[in-house]
Amino acid sequence: MESMNVLNSKYEPVIGLEIHAQMNTASKAFCGCSTDFHSSPNTNICPVCLGYPGALPALNEMLVDSILKMGIATSCRVREESIFARKNYFYPDLTKGYQITQFETPICHGGFLKINLKNNETKKIGITRIHMEEDAGKSIHDFHDDSSLIDFNRCGVPLIEIVSEPDMNSVDEATRFLQKIKQTLVYLEINDGNMEEGSLRCDANISVRIKGDKKLGTRTEIKNLNSFKNVSDAVSAEIKRQISLIESGEKVSYNTMTYNAKDKKTTATRSKEEAHDYRYFPEPDLVKVKVTKEKIENIKSILPELPEQKVMRYVTEFKLPSADAEEISHDKDFAGYFERVVSELKLKNENNYRTAGNILRTDVRKVLNDRKISISEFTVSAKVLAGLAESVTSGSISASASREVFNEILFGNTDDEQIKILENSLKKYSQVSDTGKIESLVKKILEENPEEVKRYKIGEKKLAGFFVGKIMQESKGKANPKIVNELLIKNLED
Ligand code: ADP
Ligand code: MG
Ligand code: ZN
Repeated sequence: MESMNVLNSKYEPVIGLEIHAQMNTASKAFCGCSTDFHSSPNTNICPVCLGYPGALPALNEMLVDSILKMGIATSCRVREESIFARKNYFYPDLTKGYQITQFETPICHGGFLKINLKNNETKKIGITRIHMEEDAGKSIHDFHDDSSLIDFNRCGVPLIEIVSEPDMNSVDEATRFLQKIKQTLVYLEINDGNMEEGSLRCDANISVRIKGDKKLGTRTEIKNLNSFKNVSDAVSAEIKRQISLIESGEKVSYNTMTYNAKDKKTTATRSKEEAHDYRYFPEPDLVKVKVTKEKIENIKSILPELPEQKVMRYVTEFKLPSADAEEISHDKDFAGYFERVVSELKLKNENNYRTAGNILRTDVRKVLNDRKISISEFTVSAKVLAGLAESVTSGSISASASREVFNEILFGNTDDEQIKILENSLKKYSQVSDTGKIESLVKKILEENPEEVKRYKIGEKKLAGFFVGKIMQESKGKANPKIVNELLIKNLED
């Protein structure tokens, strides 16, 4: 077989995602039971979510509001009337014997989301439909060798399913799209984005075709991927599998697949011939879902700021470079912290905004990565960080000393302690701008390095950096670099 590189340029993968997101309503989709993830097993249940005969479901209006937010945020059309359907199948953790979902009339359809590509371009990924449905229970197989446990708490928990068009053509595009969906859900405050706890999961549909072909190849569908790494590894593995199959003269046949993260392989679980016939029919116990124009206008008016709007605002209001704005607003809580720092700045100006942004993007981010914590667990107060940013912008400490001060502040347990540390270390690192003092440092370093001075004078101008380094070191990072530069050049050119 030709090498994988050659094959990758011969074939084009086509990917479509089906994403299930749990809506963070307090109660379930069709009954009053709590949706709390941490409750003891089988405590949040009632005749409705267990499907006892005669028990009548009633739609949770908050679920409709939530899905409309997502639909409107992704430029979907909204159906004025839609219905629920029963999807019939047997599974031990589905006591009802059917799942309530939407089939032919999804409430939202025909939208899109834009993703950023590596080369600064954007690509529109179509959203075919977004519909409402309920989750099933959970089977737990790891406790006993000879039996399984069932927790019905999740029965009836509200989900939305977002189905994309087959518009993604690489693993990178697929993960970026999933990332964008997650970011949008979190910005809308309708889902917690937590893939580990299963509140966001995804099925990936994959086919390959010869580059340039218009017709889509036969797809397979990998079920239940629950982390970004799994999505990216599983999709890569499946693309490779399909290409090798075709190269060896065989055909890809429609299959439902599972992904095994241990050996990084996808394997077929059932083929189209064995596929379920779900016998969908309209759910007789629920009325039509009606959405008025006023309702849509009302949702639009309460829609929170979306990621792209936030980036735009950071660029226009705070004059941040757009790459910085993207980076800071990637995570909504992180952006929230940045905005608190901004609001604590005494002097509201571009330089302070940018410095605050820089400290967040580098120093704060590093702490979060090193300690594997989220911004909500970060202990330095916004006020102290604003103070630090202002000291850098005003020139009272250098950018390199800023890092030292930041690291010292990390030791403060309370706001008061942090403020004290900030004040003390600002004194300790306060930048020397006294030209007399700096000039004597410059002279000292030049005297100590006569060889380099000679080389500089006969044209090796890049040695300026060497001298600046030495001088800054000698001043323990306190010398004002701008003045150091000026005086160094003056003394060298004499
Ligand atoms: P099902 O409900 O049987 O999974 P759908 O028509 O809802 O079928 O499609 C599911 C997903 O498969 C969608 O995200 C769609 O974009 C994607 N898809 C459809 N055809 C292909 C294909 N040939 N290659 C890759 N993805 C595809
Ligand atoms: Mg599917
Ligand atoms: Zn219930």
